[in-house]
Amino acid sequence: MRSSRFFLSTLKEAPSDAEIVSHQLMLRAGMIKRLAGGIYTWMPVGLRVVRKVEAIIRQEMDRAKAIELSMPAVQPAELWQESGRWDKYGPELLRCKDRHQRDFVIGPTHEEVITDVVRKEVKSYRQLPLHFYQIQVKFRDEIRPRFGVMRGREFVMKDGYSFHSSFADLQREYRVMFDTYTRIFTRLGLQFRAVAADTGSIGGTGSHEFHVLADSGEDGLAYCPDSDYAANVELATALPPAASRPPAAETMQKVATPGRTRCEDVAEFLGLPLTRTVKAIAIIMTGEGEGAAERLALVLLRGDHNLNEIKTQKIVGEFRFARDDEIVTALGCSPGYLGSVAIGDVPVFADRDVAVMSDFVCGANDAGYHLTGVNFGRDAKEPTQVADFRNVVNGDLSPDGRGRLELCRGIEVGHIFQLRTKYAEALKCCFLDEGGQSRVMEMGCYGIGVTRIVGAAIEQGHDERGIIFPVAIAPFAVCIVPMGYTKSQTVREAADALYSELLAAGIDVLLDDRPERPGVMFAEMELLGIPHRVVVGERGLARGELEYKGRLDAEAQMLPVTTIAQFLKERLCV
Ligand code: ATP
Ligand code: MG
Repeated sequence: MRSSRFFLSTLKEAPSDAEIVSHQLMLRAGMIKRLAGGIYTWMPVGLRVVRKVEAIIRQEMDRAKAIELSMPAVQPAELWQESGRWDKYGPELLRCKDRHQRDFVIGPTHEEVITDVVRKEVKSYRQLPLHFYQIQVKFRDEIRPRFGVMRGREFVMKDGYSFHSSFADLQREYRVMFDTYTRIFTRLGLQFRAVAADTGSIGGTGSHEFHVLADSGEDGLAYCPDSDYAANVELATALPPAASRPPAAETMQKVATPGRTRCEDVAEFLGLPLTRTVKAIAIIMTGEGEGAAERLALVLLRGDHNLNEIKTQKIVGEFRFARDDEIVTALGCSPGYLGSVAIGDVPVFADRDVAVMSDFVCGANDAGYHLTGVNFGRDAKEPTQVADFRNVVNGDLSPDGRGRLELCRGIEVGHIFQLRTKYAEALKCCFLDEGGQSRVMEMGCYGIGVTRIVGAAIEQGHDERGIIFPVAIAPFAVCIVPMGYTKSQTVREAADALYSELLAAGIDVLLDDRPERPGVMFAEMELLGIPHRVVVGERGLARGELEYKGRLDAEAQMLPVTTIAQFLKERLCV
């Protein structure tokens, strides 16, 4: 590509609303332009990156014998009513009407459509297994679109769906996809980790997420450096404490703790370790279905621990956090001084680490006061239920018993899931087995956030000068920067010759033939993250040399004109 025939539009400064580096750099490099919140135009240079990501995914999916198709973005509501998701999917589902007032959705995912295709097309076990995939635009009306294309409202996903005559065969395909995703993210040049989204072994009824490791990631991950355990913090189990509850040694006392509403402040004020404090979180259990009665309850956690909402919901059912006025009504006290002493019939859920505490500190349900030397059974009633309510923390024992957990952050770029018969049953997607019996199909689904990957790759690869793309997805592998292309015939001829030779070798090369100042061209090529740069100048040519610099090299080096193409081919393995 010649830049005079391409379209580059870089910016000196990123717009101030771009919070994270990948978003800033994508805007500065002119890869994307914002149209509306979470909705972006992919500009030519950005689109080249997306296409490279897609090509790798497509190659690996084809290699795994999945079959590509393309489904509509606009889907009739009837299918969503049939699966039950018309009511269950919240406001993230964009609904609209056609001119006949018929309801439609803009697809956030395609389980319904693919299941409809398969139930109409597939009748016999002989046609199974089948795995269809597509690379297609999705729309999710995210509550907080942010970080540019990382959490967009419109984005591109590779979504695949497999259909099987048995659970065992679904598990086989799931392993194939686990390996395929591992190959894809490796080829994309990303540092990533596969984490269990529930059971931890890929044999079980399971789900795994693939995360690109980055501090800006929205997900917390827990992993064990001594074993292969890795899980989303949302699901990582906190093992029960080994020790049992020591007997009470102190008497309960009410102490003034003015203005100390957080456990950290109370512990510091009283000169006690944070692990001696207990925080009480007021929740409202909302119950299932219409007319369900709402009920306030307390969840107790050790002062240094945090509530895990996913685990909590699994234990207590649907819930929300209580509003201040609801807390005052139920406990006679505003949040910050809550505790479980003398609270009548308010249900108390305790984390396993709290249940083994004695002589602890908690709120006195009286603003400005806490209680010390509190003990279950004696001062506070025994918890209604004891369970794992907390997020794991650094140093917790790994649930596989083979070391201690460490925490890091990740960006979810892929998700594989054994759906089993959830959709097939609802949509009556059946086949005739060998004995002529009608049976419901087993299903798996497999997603990759294609456009999110572009942002995630930049989160991992950048410096103060701009993007550092892995070669596999860089918009161009090589750029040729001639010094005076329009002025010097020698330079022009040498640059054109190298350009043609690299093109002929199948290398994706950008020839910067614009009449720009060298400094501007260098800065732009570095901002775009092009991995290899060759400068063609009269002085070097006079000595038969060109200047080469890798995007990560500290210094440029001079190489003979005659060997530079071979040098690049070797670097790029072509
Ligand atoms: P998240 O928890 O990040 O919202 P999800 O669990 O809703 O993701 P899936 O339904 O599993 O995501 O979708 C498959 C993949 O699509 C995700 O792994 C992610 O890479 C990508 N993805 C999901 N939502 C978005 C979004 N709003 N913008 C860009 N990519 C997305
Ligand atoms: Mg989501």
